[in-house]
Amino acid sequence: MAKSLNCPNCAAAFDPKDNSCAYCGSYIITSKTKQITYNLDEHEPKYKKIFFHGNEMREHELPIRSGFANMFYSITRSDGGRLLLTNQRLIFCAHAINLNPHLYWELDLKEIDRTELGLNLFISQRLHIFEREENETIFVVYGGENWKNELTNVLEKISE
Ligand SMILES: [Zn+2]
Repeated sequence: MAKSLNCPNCAAAFDPKDNSCAYCGSYIITSKTKQITYNLDEHEPKYKKIFFHGNEMREHELPIRSGFANMFYSITRSDGGRLLLTNQRLIFCAHAINLNPHLYWELDLKEIDRTELGLNLFISQRLHIFEREENETIFVVYGGENWKNELTNVLEKISE
């Protein structure tokens, strides 16, 4: 039996397969689906509150894409989790079963200077996120081209 989760809004039990709480109608992004690109036109009017794991989205913040990712530090060190791109932030949450369960990373999109695709692995790719401060964060993702395109699109939109 799949482990049930509790809604971060009302604490009711919900099935992660449903992605939304039957009681309060919150939309909850968990780590069950490999890759999702959200349809914002469908999404926007439907849900009052949107959560990425336990973190509530900000006002007018909507998910764009989420998927499995590893935060890459070196060849021998990375953390597995889930990356979420919204129209305001890029957020990474480590899997709950990970050795470092509380790892949470977020970056306001306004802080991103540029993104680049790096080393091509077998089915995944490195995605490099450069901040204006010259910090660099690397994620290993599936569908690196899609991530980069969607990031580029949203960065263009917020700079308009
Ligand atoms: Zn709920």
